Amino acid sequence: MSQITEQINQSTIGDILENSLSGNRPSPADCLRLLDSDDVHLMGLASGYLTRKQFGEKASFVNNIILNYTNVCITDCKFCAFYRSPGATDSYTLTLDQIESRVKTAWEMFKIRQVLIQGGHNPNLKIEYYENAFKMIRKKFPNIGVHGLSTSEIDMIARIEKSSTKEVLSRLKDAGLQSIPGAGAEILVDSVKDVISPKKISSADWIRIMEEAHTLGLPASATMMYGHVENNNDIVDHFFKIVKLQEKTRGFMAFIPWNFEPNNTLMQKENLVQYGTGGIQLLKMIAISRLVFDGLIPHIQSSWLTNGVGMAQLALQYGADDFGGTLIGEEVVSCTGARSTELTGKLIADAIHQIGYQAEERDNFYNPVALL
Ligand code: SF4
Repeated sequence: MSQITEQINQSTIGDILENSLSGNRPSPADCLRLLDSDDVHLMGLASGYLTRKQFGEKASFVNNIILNYTNVCITDCKFCAFYRSPGATDSYTLTLDQIESRVKTAWEMFKIRQVLIQGGHNPNLKIEYYENAFKMIRKKFPNIGVHGLSTSEIDMIARIEKSSTKEVLSRLKDAGLQSIPGAGAEILVDSVKDVISPKKISSADWIRIMEEAHTLGLPASATMMYGHVENNNDIVDHFFKIVKLQEKTRGFMAFIPWNFEPNNTLMQKENLVQYGTGGIQLLKMIAISRLVFDGLIPHIQSSWLTNGVGMAQLALQYGADDFGGTLIGEEVVSCTGARSTELTGKLIADAIHQIGYQAEERDNFYNPVALL
């Protein structure tokens, strides 16, 4: 601690880090100064210290699969390489039997504890499709948590059903939905969304649907996709919109910052973004996430999917406490060619052990399953 204090005293962001170490959250102006600073290592010393104070030298992960149940989508986000228009020859929608078979195989092979269900905005799928899938999973595989449907998918179902998003959430919860992933947030600033995903729900809608979910007793993750057309002020807005909702509901279990991967996307074709932002920016975003959400959102995830296992090991020392999931079967990031590797729980535990930490397998709600 004394070595950290000395370095902090000499830094232009020292006052912010000192406040963080004393339990005071950075203000939006402080957050902007952190984003503008290159003192990433020092941010990591402070955020790593706060993380170890809470979790010790231990990192969690979840054995899970991603079910990208359909790639049919009418929302045409410019950052997405995954979707296909209705009727495209390479479009697909999984049947209930296919979903059951994938979950069954994953349970038998990997003893997964979570199925993460996300897909395109498919105008042909009624709410019963989701209800049947959730009921089947919860009934046949009671140890597997159902973490599914981004706020924009919930909005799409509500429009198809001519119902409210609250009613849809309530029906899906009754069918077995247990928590909501944070996808669809991207950057919660409409001037950014107007460029990258003009047909998607607004920032206010994302916040509203999340609040509805929290109020119904459905906890969630929050995410941020950075590294495209946003600026640092937009990132500050994003952080503090989430802070504001979390202060009200306490419904977010985790925050996951991840970098945009431009390959095979319209944004790359239109020359808006050519390259991903790389490792140092990831460590900065992880460190700032811990400083901003410390004591408010319990878990920060490492984002190994696009940045690889080595960067995830570093992220665990810069403020992340959770490695994330094994994400077997993921297809969205894989379409950009940016998926770093295939992982099993054993490989994640090995990666965590390599940095001298204990690995803890967890369930959908971050409850410990086993210490490895
Ligand atoms: S990100 Fe989601 S909503 Fe946007 S085009 Fe891709 S599948 Fe559709």
